[in-house]
Amino acid sequence: LTGTPALELRNVNASYGTTSVLRDVSLRVEPGSVTALIGPNGAGKTTSLRVASGLIRPSSGEVLIDGDEVTRTSAARRSRAGLCHVPEGRGVYRNLTVRENLLMQSNAFNAQESIEIATGVFPRLGERLNQKAGTMSGGEQQMLALSAAYVANPRLVLVDEPSLGLAPIIVDLVFDFLRTLREKGVALLLVDQYALRTLSIADHAYVLRRGEIAYDGSAETLLQGNVLDQYIGDG
Ligand code: ATP
Repeated sequence: LTGTPALELRNVNASYGTTSVLRDVSLRVEPGSVTALIGPNGAGKTTSLRVASGLIRPSSGEVLIDGDEVTRTSAARRSRAGLCHVPEGRGVYRNLTVRENLLMQSNAFNAQESIEIATGVFPRLGERLNQKAGTMSGGEQQMLALSAAYVANPRLVLVDEPSLGLAPIIVDLVFDFLRTLREKGVALLLVDQYALRTLSIADHAYVLRRGEIAYDGSAETLLQGNVLDQYIGDG
């Protein structure tokens, strides 16, 4: 028996023009848990997050946040409902400074305090509060995008490829940060092409292959032996 999921996609179909990308995708993210969505390039992971956050509409199927149907509501409305989407390739405002980016996103009672907390997690950001985000390194922009997800005080965070193009030491920081979010009770849906690290912090996992859910089960089972290879294999 489970309670109401923080996020649910029910039998979602989605396409770009005439190209069908998601076929009958159903998935759930339980409150306060980490769910991994993995799968080869082009499988439809990013598209699934876009459907969830309202950036694109499915051609059929439903999206629910905390049990409420939001399939036809705007991304802004879903963000007010506690959802935060950190897109691939950093979701920062390049022409705004680090401080302005954080203030823009802040939903917290005390914005200044939330900035202090975020920069406490990533001290490098604290040194760059007045720098334009677009002039920072990829790793720094990723830290900023994730910090913005923190100060927005969300209950559900969708993170797309958080480690893409980052140096290993920064990837460690990013995953430490994701664990911090989880400890705050935030539900996470994590997309990554590189599965092992993502699965190691996940409770539940889905594998997407060519737009369809090929695995729906515990992350731990998927990590065992060669189970993962069966699903990821040749894409
Ligand atoms: P990747 O890891 O490469 O980002 P993914 O699993 O996230 O892969 P999606 O980005 O969701 O996959 O893409 C799924 C399919 O939809 C791909 O074949 C892709 O080429 C196609 N696609 C994605 N965005 C668009 C778009 N804006 N217009 C047309 N086709 C698109």
